[in-house]
Amino acid sequence: MENFKDELIIEIKNLSKNFKNLKAVDNLNINVFKGDVFGFLGPNGAGKSTTIRMLLTLIKPTKGNIKIFGKDLQKERLSILRNVGAIVEKPDFYGYLSAYKNLEILSRISGHDISKKRIMEVLELVGLAERYKSKVKTFSHGMKQRLGLAQALLHDPELIILDEPTTGLDPMGMKEIRDLIIHLSRDQKKTVFLSSHILYEVEQVANRMIIINKGTARVEGAVKELLDASNLSVTFEVNDVEKAKSVLLNTTWSQKLKGITNNKMELSISNSDVAMLNRFLVENGIDVSSIIPTRSLEEYFLKITEEAS
Ligand code: ADP
Repeated sequence: MENFKDELIIEIKNLSKNFKNLKAVDNLNINVFKGDVFGFLGPNGAGKSTTIRMLLTLIKPTKGNIKIFGKDLQKERLSILRNVGAIVEKPDFYGYLSAYKNLEILSRISGHDISKKRIMEVLELVGLAERYKSKVKTFSHGMKQRLGLAQALLHDPELIILDEPTTGLDPMGMKEIRDLIIHLSRDQKKTVFLSSHILYEVEQVANRMIIINKGTARVEGAVKELLDASNLSVTFEVNDVEKAKSVLLNTTWSQKLKGITNNKMELSISNSDVAMLNRFLVENGIDVSSIIPTRSLEEYFLKITEEAS
C-alpha cells in the first residue's frame, strides 16, 4: 500500500447525477492517487454504483467533471478506458465453456490483443490456473467472481475499479478477493478503486477512503487516521450506575461522559485511559462487569447504514 502522492489517477470534481428529482450523486469531490487502494464506502443506495457508472462512461453526469490519468474523461474516453479494468455487475460467463475459453472469447470481443500466455497468467493470478479447463458452470460463486477479476485484468490495466466485488461471497471467498486486491496493489503497483457497504471490508485493504451517504461525502481521509484508536467510545457496564455517576462527578471523567442507559455508561476516551478509568471506578467501590469499546467511525457508519435501510 505504497503511495506516490504526486500522481493523481482519478480526479472527480463537483460530480452530480440526478434521476428526475432524486440527487443520486450530489456534488462529489474525490482524489485517488497512484498506488492507492481507495475505499468507496456507503450504505445501499448511497450513490456508489451511479458514481462508478459515470467513471466508466456508462451514464453521463448531470454536472461536474472527471479526469482519469490526468485526462478529461469526456474528451479522451477510449484512450483512458483502455487502461482501466472493472467489474461492475455480476460477471456473465458461458457456463458450458471452460474458464480459459471464456477469457479467450471475452478478450477477442474487447478488441485487446491478448496472448494465450497472458490468459494463463491472469488465471494463475486469481488462483484458477488448475481449473482452466473446467466448465464455468461447475464454479462456485467465489470462483466466478475471481474469473471476473481475471477478465478485468487481462489487458494489464493501471487502474482497477471494483463495485462491491465481495457481494454474496462467503467469508473465505471474501478473503480471497481481499488478498487479491492487496497483491494487485502491493506487488503489481496497481491503483484500485473499491466500493463497498461494509466498513470492515474497506479497512482491511484500503489506505484511503471516503464515506458517502445520499450522494454526498460525509467522511474522508487516510484509513489509519480515521480508525485511530484515540477516538474511542467505551461503554462501561457497572453494578450501580447512580453511584458511578456521582463518583465521576467533579472529576475530569465527567466531561467525557456521553450517555447513560440502564446500567451502562458511555464515555469518549482514548485507549490508554480505559484501564485508568476502570481502576478509578473499582477503587471507588464500583463493580465493572464489562468494558465494550466502539470506534466512533464504526458507530457513525452503523448509524447511517441503519438510516438507509
Ligand atoms: P449504491 O451503489 O450506493 O447502492 P446507487 O448508485 O445504485 O447506490 O443508487 C443511488 C440512488 O439512485 C438510489 O436511490 C437508486 O435507487 C437511484 N438510482 C440508481 N440508478 C437509477 C436509475 N437508473 N433511475 C432512477 N434511479 C436510480
